[in-house]
Amino acid sequence: MSAPPKMGHVYLVGAGPGALGLVTLRARQLIERADVVVYDYLCHPDLPRWAPEGAEIIYAGKSGPAHTLTQDEINALLVSYAASHEVVIRLKGGDPLVFGRAGEEIEALRRAAIEFEIVPGVTAALGAAAAAGISLTDRRAASQIVITTYSRGSDAAVSDPFAATPQLNWAAISSSTTLVLYMPGADYAEVSQRLLDAGQPKDLPCVIVSNATGPLQQIRWSSVAGLSREAKLPAPALLIVGRVATHEIREIAANHWSGTRREHPIRNATII
Ligand code: SAH
Repeated sequence: MSAPPKMGHVYLVGAGPGALGLVTLRARQLIERADVVVYDYLCHPDLPRWAPEGAEIIYAGKSGPAHTLTQDEINALLVSYAASHEVVIRLKGGDPLVFGRAGEEIEALRRAAIEFEIVPGVTAALGAAAAAGISLTDRRAASQIVITTYSRGSDAAVSDPFAATPQLNWAAISSSTTLVLYMPGADYAEVSQRLLDAGQPKDLPCVIVSNATGPLQQIRWSSVAGLSREAKLPAPALLIVGRVATHEIREIAANHWSGTRREHPIRNATII
């Protein structure tokens, strides 16, 4: 009787938000032992270069609608590489478990009885908050973080960020919520309108962070209503909405606590 084929390990590895220095040591150690690296467009381009010579490097794409491989193809690829290679790295931007379709990959690996390990990474929300210098849970203004997106669903739906949208649970969002909106889409006016429709105040601060922690980083301070006039910043970008999303946190927090609503200055933003 022949021995069963030896299966390799698949490592779902977070590549962090952009800066090379924010990649974990574990990620680096694994990439340096990799036989195969399957990576996404959000990963720093130097990361696959840490792999040993001769390692197979596969670009899985996923920049907006122009997917290079479908999720099913990626799942199948991981399973088939694990049958013939020891160390298979699936490298994903940020953290693999945050809007990373890792659930589907884990399911495929479990079904094929392939061992896997998950290596966390710094998710974009944390990179963006660090870049903007704001505390997502500043105790003077926030008690919870809601990480969300409007853009969910099948591969096809990604080209239309508002198409396959499970309803955001607005009931979970209070005046002390910090909302972090991944994949805000191409049209900030639409995002602004959705936030207003959901009862968010016009002057609620928000900040758009593009390419957080990377060399092309841009930060734009605005407000929920002001967002409608903001030009789109290059992808990847996210939005942080809430009282913490301003330099003037002291004043905002004071106003919030005293229950008075008066206009407050927001850097670079037009108050409506
Ligand atoms: N797994 C990733 C998220 C992938 S979804 C993570 O944990 O960060 C892709 C979305 O993440 C982008 O559309 C954008 O909203 C956000 N994103 C990823 N990297 C970013 C960066 N460097 N700056 C701002 N937003 C980023």
